[in-house]
Amino acid sequence: MQHPDLLRELARRPLCCDGAMGTQLLERGMTSGQCGMLWNVERPEAVGDIHRAYRNAGCELITTNSFGGTRFVLERHGLADRVSELNRAAAQVARAAAGGSGWVLGDVGPFGDFLEPVGDVTPDELRAAFRDQITALIEGGADAVLVETMSDPAEAVVGVEAAKACDARIPVIVTYAFQKTAPGHFRTLMGPTVAEAVRRAIAAGADIVGANCGTGLSLDDYLDLGHQLLGVAGTTPVMVQPNAGAPRTEAGKTIYDATPEQMAGTARQLLAAGVRIIGGCCGTTPLHLTAMGRAMHGADR
Ligand SMILES: [Zn+2]
Repeated sequence: MQHPDLLRELARRPLCCDGAMGTQLLERGMTSGQCGMLWNVERPEAVGDIHRAYRNAGCELITTNSFGGTRFVLERHGLADRVSELNRAAAQVARAAAGGSGWVLGDVGPFGDFLEPVGDVTPDELRAAFRDQITALIEGGADAVLVETMSDPAEAVVGVEAAKACDARIPVIVTYAFQKTAPGHFRTLMGPTVAEAVRRAIAAGADIVGANCGTGLSLDDYLDLGHQLLGVAGTTPVMVQPNAGAPRTEAGKTIYDATPEQMAGTARQLLAAGVRIIGGCCGTTPLHLTAMGRAMHGADR
């Protein structure tokens, strides 16, 4: 793991993150409703194949398969007692695929419920759950923590606090899922604006902030969002992981239509705007990331 610190490298050059994991697992035979975390121990070669496909596509940041890795989410699959094992395995599989020159982002997704007063979970309970997950991700070899697809800034803040409590120096990234509420206006499902959401993450100590996924956003919306994120992030680097365009439903299936070339165009525009890390979310494949990585490299030179 003798590669430079992620933040130091990011100050020198933009970096390419990977794309979707969930849809890739489904393509390899996982059924929806199944716990993807189990694949880290039962089908590690399949998870590793996905990571390697992204690494070969030129992605420098590889995200662990641990989106649903908190005790709260694993509990629904009867796996609450396997938090450490499954997260450590997720990081080990990603570490092996990332190699010495790639960085592993320990993925932390939403815990799937609401903090009090809306829900019953206290910030202390959530902090403990995130700490258990993040401790295992770091043990398995994660270089940074990615707190992603956030809607509630309070949850994102707890995620940052938990990561920094595990390792005060580990880089922490927070990305929110936004929806468009009016032309040019974005909010998370919980209501906060881009400015509110980003400022709270930075105040909590996030080293990188941004957006991933989202609801019904077009590629132009992601560009608009990128500009807004840059406007409020100040000197904090910004990361954007768009879906492969706005999805449509066909015979009960969600389909993302954006082509690799279209995604490459968006990556080029985001990079020109000043976004430092670009990857993909729902519907993106290694083909999309290959085109995006090439576009970023071209602009890099
Ligand atoms: Zn997504």
